[in-house]
Amino acid sequence: MLVLGSTGSIGVNTLEIAKRFGFEIEALVAGNNYELLNRQIKEFKPKFVAVKDKQTAQKVNFDKVYVGIDGIVEILEKSKSKMVVNALVGEAGLIPTLKAQELNKKIALANKESLVIAGKFIDSSKITPIDSEHFGLWYLLNGKKEFKKLYITASGGALREWPVDKLKDATLEDVLKHPNWSMGVKITIDSATMVNKLFELLEARWLFNTSNVDAFIETKSIIHAFIEWIDGSTTAHISRTDMKLPIAFALLGDVNENILKPVNLLEIGSLEFRKIDASRYPVWEIKESLLNNPDMGIVVNTANEVAIEKFIKREIGFLDISRQILKTFKEFEGVKINDLNDVFEIKKEVLRFLNGI
Ligand code: NDP
Repeated sequence: MLVLGSTGSIGVNTLEIAKRFGFEIEALVAGNNYELLNRQIKEFKPKFVAVKDKQTAQKVNFDKVYVGIDGIVEILEKSKSKMVVNALVGEAGLIPTLKAQELNKKIALANKESLVIAGKFIDSSKITPIDSEHFGLWYLLNGKKEFKKLYITASGGALREWPVDKLKDATLEDVLKHPNWSMGVKITIDSATMVNKLFELLEARWLFNTSNVDAFIETKSIIHAFIEWIDGSTTAHISRTDMKLPIAFALLGDVNENILKPVNLLEIGSLEFRKIDASRYPVWEIKESLLNNPDMGIVVNTANEVAIEKFIKREIGFLDISRQILKTFKEFEGVKINDLNDVFEIKKEVLRFLNGI
């Protein structure tokens, strides 16, 4: 299989599962972490390797190193593997998802931004999501089509216990102290702003073809999804906070071996559920409009990626991320996307707008 984003949090877990189940790795794709990539090349002996830029390529111990998104596309075209794990972060994952789809490959998709930006143009039947909440929903649905409502849970992120009036002072270091999960930088920030859950609602919308989905906080992150059934019962998916379970299912289709230690409910003792409150998570205000018009995904994603970059460079504060998203959302509300070209055109317009504020 091809592993895009092999040096990231999902990528490293994917390679562990690949090793355990004897998958051959045809390609490794990374951004800038050449040291880890070099170790992975030694261990997995891929046929193809790509990195983000030429400077990094020079430090990679491999004969021919492909570069950039074009390089990833070339590898996808040349590869024989039927399975692509897309664990790239952000919009960088979109073109590879579309290319893999065009080539009729199976896509194990961690890169939720692909669905957020262009879910309309992605055939969800070719996708297996690597996301604990969507894996949980899929596991509970077990092929059933009728349900009353789907729910996914949120941890609330690193700042969930902070007084709301102190949130404006939160630094990058504060935001990265996630209470339950160990993940990449962007998704950890998205978790603190609750953008991650907005994105996951859109992801669910495309994967399960329904807008009848909502989210709330479960502070221990052991329940990832709930389904309310028509008969009045509710089922829950419980597992440890470890992405190896969704990854194993995405790669193998079905799993009948132990992947994780079961959750010990007696040790857990109690659970706490909270409403997602827009005074703490301002982006929650746009949840309904976004679900009603998922074409706005490209607008929210672009505003978010630009704001996160500025926050990481310490040019703006934590609450400015949400402020910029809401401002941009208001400006572009009602946008309609008819084809992929529109997606890229709207992105350009959003970037122009963001440059001016
Ligand atoms: P990380 O930041 O840990 O990893 C991202 C990976 O993508 C790294 O290998 C990075 O390379 C690589 N990369 C980034 N930009 C480029 C680029 N332009 N070209 C080539 N490679 C690039 O992220 P995560 O693993 O946490 O997340 C990956 C995706 O999975 C995200 O979309 C996230 O939302 C989703 N996800 C993550 C979960 C988690 O538990 N981490 C859970 C559910 C979904 P390098 O590090 O070498 O620079």
